[in-house]
Amino acid sequence: MTDIQPLTLITPTAAMSAGVHGGRAKCLQRLVRLDMPVPMTVALSFDTVRSIAQGYMPDMNALLAPFGEQPFLSVRPSSLDPDWGGPSAVLNVGMNDARHARLSADIGVEAATAIYLRFVQSYAVHVARLDPDEFFLPDVADADSLKAMLDTYEFETDEPFPQDASVQLAEVLRSMARAWDGTTARLLRQAKGAPVDAGLGLVVQAMAMGVGQGECGSGVIEFVDATSGLPKIVGRYLSQSQGRETIRDAEGAMYLNRDDRGPSLEERCPDVFAQLLVFGDLARKKLREEMQIKFTIEHGVLRILDAIRVQRSSRATVRIAVALANDGIIPREEAVMRVEPAALSELLHRQVDPRAKRDLIVRGIAASPGASAGRIVLTAAEAQASAARGEPCVLVRRETTPEDIRGMHAAQAVLTMRGGVTSHAAVIGRGLGLPCVVGASDLSIDRKKGVISGPDGRKFTAGDVITVDGTTGQILAGEAPMHEAALDGAFQTLLEWADDYRDIGVRANADTPADAQAARNFAAEGIGLCRTEHMFFEGDRLGVMREMIFAEGSDDRRAVLDRLLPMQRDDFEALFTIMAGKNVCVRLFDPPLHEFLPSDKAGLRDLAEQLALPVPEVTERVNALTEYNPMLGMRGVRLGIAIPEIYDMQARAIFDAMVAVGKAGVDISVEIMIPLVSAMREVELVKTRVDGVANAVRAKSKTALNYRLGVMVETPRAALRAQDIAGHAEFLSFGTNDLTQMTYGLSRDDAGRFMSAYVQQGVYAEDPFHTLDVEGVGELVALGAERGRMGRKDVILSICGEHAGSRTAIAFCREHKFDYVSCSPFRVPVARLTAAQLAIASKIKS
Ligand code: PEP
Ligand code: MG
Repeated sequence: MTDIQPLTLITPTAAMSAGVHGGRAKCLQRLVRLDMPVPMTVALSFDTVRSIAQGYMPDMNALLAPFGEQPFLSVRPSSLDPDWGGPSAVLNVGMNDARHARLSADIGVEAATAIYLRFVQSYAVHVARLDPDEFFLPDVADADSLKAMLDTYEFETDEPFPQDASVQLAEVLRSMARAWDGTTARLLRQAKGAPVDAGLGLVVQAMAMGVGQGECGSGVIEFVDATSGLPKIVGRYLSQSQGRETIRDAEGAMYLNRDDRGPSLEERCPDVFAQLLVFGDLARKKLREEMQIKFTIEHGVLRILDAIRVQRSSRATVRIAVALANDGIIPREEAVMRVEPAALSELLHRQVDPRAKRDLIVRGIAASPGASAGRIVLTAAEAQASAARGEPCVLVRRETTPEDIRGMHAAQAVLTMRGGVTSHAAVIGRGLGLPCVVGASDLSIDRKKGVISGPDGRKFTAGDVITVDGTTGQILAGEAPMHEAALDGAFQTLLEWADDYRDIGVRANADTPADAQAARNFAAEGIGLCRTEHMFFEGDRLGVMREMIFAEGSDDRRAVLDRLLPMQRDDFEALFTIMAGKNVCVRLFDPPLHEFLPSDKAGLRDLAEQLALPVPEVTERVNALTEYNPMLGMRGVRLGIAIPEIYDMQARAIFDAMVAVGKAGVDISVEIMIPLVSAMREVELVKTRVDGVANAVRAKSKTALNYRLGVMVETPRAALRAQDIAGHAEFLSFGTNDLTQMTYGLSRDDAGRFMSAYVQQGVYAEDPFHTLDVEGVGELVALGAERGRMGRKDVILSICGEHAGSRTAIAFCREHKFDYVSCSPFRVPVARLTAAQLAIASKIKS
């Protein structure tokens, strides 16, 4: 638009847009076009309001001309997005002594005086910025109280209260324009996503009097329940009132439709009520949204002052979008675009009631969403005991280790003092859908006394109840009130629609049958990462695993592994059966062996007893296995090459399970993934052995075994050498957790200590373990993908680090034409929706 007018009378054909005049102004024009009885309104563009803030007033005569000789007006803000807020509305501009006299004759002295008093108060406080304590509304609206307030105004400003409507309006516009530029207002709207240079428009509207002879009053009506999203008439009407604020909880406010609890507008003014229903339906169909309509009844006649989008919960957002599409009002594509993926994540978990009071103990890193309360327990064993007693508990640890897995399963939530978003507790928490807060470093723990202390010195002992809010990272004292998870039909429908638009696969990282079931329930296209080591912490396997570690030589080791084989085979059978018809990518054993060994004296004593060895010998062997830098030590494929019996056993378990489920008619596509590869030769060696095991199982079972062997690219060298590695690998899955760790040289378990200082000072734009570092780690991934394709044209490419469910990573993977992303089961719905939105957005752009 080149001919933007500073002032625009809102008519059906006026040149107006939300980007120039704001959402409220544009919406008012739509209401006018729908022939709704909207009072005369003039819109001021963003540029006009910007000029006003700089001291340049528009032509006030032109602005006031449409409103006649004695203008009586309201002024409301109109930003691009109503959620960005803005200065409060100012009503009754144009109120002065003369109008007071006229109104007194018309509606009575008391009512007229009350309006004048309210206007002087709001003008004094919001426009002249005088002390609110000097301008409280008196109990009785009479001549004395009015005089007193006008005198106070004059005393404070050395000027009489302005009588000229033009002067009043100019000052109101100036104060609203300046308020928009205030630091607090700017920060508040930027927190809601407004750009730095977001503009403010203003609308000046003829006052519709809700006070006077006959039926007069004002009200608001919504046609949907803002919490559930189900159709419902919500709102109130108050006779002889003006503006939303007077209605809220006001004595005498009546219901809109018939209600056993009291009188209703439907009974008092059936025609007006019927008209409101028609307008509501029209607004929904034509504005393609659930709107809150603000109305006034003036001497029995309905006026529509304004309509804004109904503020709604996440659950209602999904229901409303689906209902609008089902009713043919918006296309499905648009319904998919209207729901923030983060809102889905809220629906998947219990949440602290947003209206509840929060007794904050400490804040940590929000590592796994949802909220749960329980008694504090300080060890995994206590968590299990607590679960056995049926008592909900929260496992509080300095950090968790694989030994804590069973305790985590037993707990309702996990809290750690150390670690970041890819630490053990965070990864497992997300996998289990367990609320988890990590890195709460302001909390101290005294395990001997069984006490944790907050930063303010408050102490909590084992057994005290706390709430872990993994969505916000807050730890609260006591049991906070919750909203239950809400996976209703609308949620499923929206995701099915999303899948129609999505152009990248979404799989889940799932280690256990429970994870796999969650993955299936969330319609993951398969498992992209099954971390098999977690299986060795289950039940009595830890003991056998420890025996294996202590075995003398290959034969002994093989003998112990033979005891693990049936257990591991059962794991895979269960997993493959649940994932029938899908892909399952099994990663071979990855962590350093010492993670399976006890770290304290009692554990060492138990182990010595189990192995029938003297404690000093066990201690010595454990010490010998300890590495200075285990994450860069003997783990992943390095173990697979140094102690090949482990991978042999795993391959055997996988193939045996394939044979078994195949006999039961289960069709499964299996992929075997080698972790921590940095050289092609590693892949060659492991591939030869795995193929050898497959041949043996084929020969014995007389079954065709089809599987793919691939590599987890999580060292920089593997990315650089992806071309020759892909020569031996049918797929490459980028493990961005370790790849980020190694690209930055940043420990994923320790970075939490200084990460917030780094992010606050802008050293890193974001925590790279949380948001994929597209510039650095991303460049390695892109390079690895390109080189991988050079080595094998149809190599399957994916990302399976914790980043995989995020918008940045999914956008990156789409851009580089990856086949799928694989994330925690509970992030699968979010990833499906995000991927669909990105696909739709790129279709719109092209
Ligand atoms: C990774 O490193 O990105 C990964 C997925 O593996 P893990 O988190 O098990 O090291
Ligand atoms: Mg890894």
